[in-house]
Amino acid sequence: MTTVLTSASPLTAADRCDRCGAQAYLRVVLLSGGELLFCAHHGRKFEPELKKIAAEIQDETERLTSVPASDSEDER
Ligand SMILES: [Zn+2]
Repeated sequence: MTTVLTSASPLTAADRCDRCGAQAYLRVVLLSGGELLFCAHHGRKFEPELKKIAAEIQDETERLTSVPASDSEDER
């Protein structure tokens, strides 16, 4: 059994960017206790700002590039 960090549950397709509504690949836990979700695009865009206010940044953008080539059925 591996230890699971309670604050770092994986992001899912149901997690949406707070800015544009795209699928979120970054979860930012704020020092103030809140939480923000960003897509890869906005995560990168706001990263310098986020680093100042974040207690923790969970970055799953690597999943974007490591997605195995799948059938194009859910390509929209
Ligand atoms: Zn976005």
